[in-house]
Amino acid sequence: MTRLQKVWQYLVAIVLPNRCICCGELIPPPDTVCLACETALSVIKPPICPYCAHTKADCSCRKHRHLYDKIASPFYYENSAKGGVLRLKRIEDPKAVNRFADMMCTVVKREYGEEHIDRITYVPMTGHALREREFNQSKSLATAVAKRLALPVTDTLVKLYETPPQKKLGLRTRSGNVLGVFDVTDPSVRGQTILLVDDVVTTGATLNECAKMLKLYGAKRVLVVTVAVRKYEKKKDEIT
Ligand SMILES: [Zn+2]
Ligand SMILES: [Zn+2]
Repeated sequence: MTRLQKVWQYLVAIVLPNRCICCGELIPPPDTVCLACETALSVIKPPICPYCAHTKADCSCRKHRHLYDKIASPFYYENSAKGGVLRLKRIEDPKAVNRFADMMCTVVKREYGEEHIDRITYVPMTGHALREREFNQSKSLATAVAKRLALPVTDTLVKLYETPPQKKLGLRTRSGNVLGVFDVTDPSVRGQTILLVDDVVTTGATLNECAKMLKLYGAKRVLVVTVAVRKYEKKKDEIT
C-alpha cells in the first residue's frame, strides 16, 4: 500500500468508522470481522444436507422436503453470525451486505453449480414495513449476490399484509401465520429456476410459502440461499 493510499484510508476511517459486521465494534480497516467474531462464526461445513442446509453430520431432517427444492447457507444462526444477521436488520451497511453476499456466493457456486439459475429474487416486506425500516436487507443481499453471479434480480414476490413476528409464535402456528401472505407479481417465472434470497431461515415457513407461490405460478425449481440457518436440536434417539 502506498503512502497516499494509507492517508486516504485513514481519512475514510475518520469519516466512516470501520466496524465489525457482526458486533459493530470498531476495527482497523480493511478488516470486516473482528477476531472474536471471526473465531465464533459457526460455519456450516460441507458435505451439507440440501433439505435443511445443515452439515450432514448435524442433519436429522430425514429428507423432509419443503416446497423449495434445495437450501444452503454459509452459517448456523448462532454466536457472531446471529449478531451479523440482527445487525443487518437494524443497520443498512453495504460493507456487511457485500461480505455476506461473498460468502453466500461461495455456497451457491458450491451447492448449485450444476443448476441453471434464470433469476434471483428475495423475500419481500410490506410497503408499510419497508417505509418504517427504509430498506429490505434481503433485497440488498439478493442485489449483491446477483451482481457477483451476473444474473438478473427482480421484484418477483409481494407481501400482502403484516403478520406477527415468527419468533413470537409456536412452531406449529408459524406456517399458518404466513399462509396467503405472499403473491407473485411477475408471471414470467413460468418454467424458470429461481434463486430465492433471505437473511435467515428459522422454521422455513416463510420461504416455504414464497416457494409455494412461485411454484403455483409455474416456476420449475426454487433454490434458497440465506446468510444463516437456525440449527435444530437432534433428537436423542438420532444422536449417533
Ligand atoms: Zn465482532
Ligand atoms: Zn437435512
